[in-house]
Amino acid sequence: MNNAKIEFNRPYMTGKEFEYITQAKLNNALSGDGPFTKRCHHWIEENTGCKKALLTHSCTAALEMAALLLDICPGDEVIMPSYTFVSTANAFVLRGGVPVFVDIRPDTQNLDENLIEDAITPKTRAIVVVHYAGVACEMDRIMEIARTHNLKVVEDAAQGLMATYKGKALGSIGDFGAYSFHETKNVISGEGGALLLNDSATVLRAETIREKGTDRSQFFRGEVDKYTWQEVGSSFLPGELVAAFLLAQLEEAHAITDHRLAIWDRYHAAFEHLESKGRLRRPCIPESCQHNAHMYYILLAPEIDRQGVIAQLKQHSIHSVFHYVPLHNSPAGKRYGKVHGTLAVTDSNSECLLRLPLWVGLSEAQQEVIVDVLTSAIS
Ligand SMILES: *Cc1c(COP(=O)(O)O)cnc(C)c1O
Repeated sequence: MNNAKIEFNRPYMTGKEFEYITQAKLNNALSGDGPFTKRCHHWIEENTGCKKALLTHSCTAALEMAALLLDICPGDEVIMPSYTFVSTANAFVLRGGVPVFVDIRPDTQNLDENLIEDAITPKTRAIVVVHYAGVACEMDRIMEIARTHNLKVVEDAAQGLMATYKGKALGSIGDFGAYSFHETKNVISGEGGALLLNDSATVLRAETIREKGTDRSQFFRGEVDKYTWQEVGSSFLPGELVAAFLLAQLEEAHAITDHRLAIWDRYHAAFEHLESKGRLRRPCIPESCQHNAHMYYILLAPEIDRQGVIAQLKQHSIHSVFHYVPLHNSPAGKRYGKVHGTLAVTDSNSECLLRLPLWVGLSEAQQEVIVDVLTSAIS
């Protein structure tokens, strides 16, 4: 048995990161919005079709900007899944908003579009969707509900770079989209993110909020002759070194995605027979979605002890992890959020979901070991 450790995630380097960082230094432009930031903005706009992309220092920051742009006020309700990362909710709670947790679909772990309408009240302002594992939510239906009820849509597309819904890039469909370039995502800059604006009318205000609430971006373009404090904002922009690193990664995004998809497909084929025996369920990719292989997860049959499976994998030096503790069960989620209806699918799927190693460089031999150990652990 191969005893070399198989990490859950290993950050991938394209090889150009440090060349670009050196260039950024030679440009003598280290603060935000220099040439590398502009090239990243351009890359995202070209590859997603959004009206404007703005780099941020995290997806968390991009979501916080979206909450500011939506003028979320104390008591405003925001519909979202409970099965998500804390930042989805925190961004709105920071403005006094109330997350209203709605259950997920049993097949994609995404917000169940058929449960949204019933959760809408006169206080509802927005729907925040999370494209889990880079697989899109049912966006046509969700956008239709939002337009009917005059609500805004924010896409938490932290995991969604290079994935599409009916040919449209995730993050480019709602009013706002948020990407993450955290080290655990497909394309990385250590910490990093971007806000996608899909309505040009919001661009100037977003630039202001991102630059400490000032019109400094307009000042640098020569559109105003001095810059002043215009409204509430913060510093949401990354420095050029981060943007230089990120550009090297974005330029390889297609190759990175192809590589990850090949690994994902191998897992998927290898687990087919365990699914037909009822030992696990594999991820479901609806026909309208092209995913990006952000994650390979399985849903273990309820009678299987997940902690035991994780321990057995660990004995073979394989690091596997479960995922979110649903927000409605967390101390802050109970304090700040509201539950709509039953969250039965969220509760049951979150208890049996297991994520397997998936990173560029994971070899076929390593993958075979993972499949073998897992198969014997749950057969
Ligand atoms: C990773 C992630 C985030 C947070 O991203 P950061 O860039 O670390 O702020 C938010 N939402 C979801 C769904 C994520 O997966």
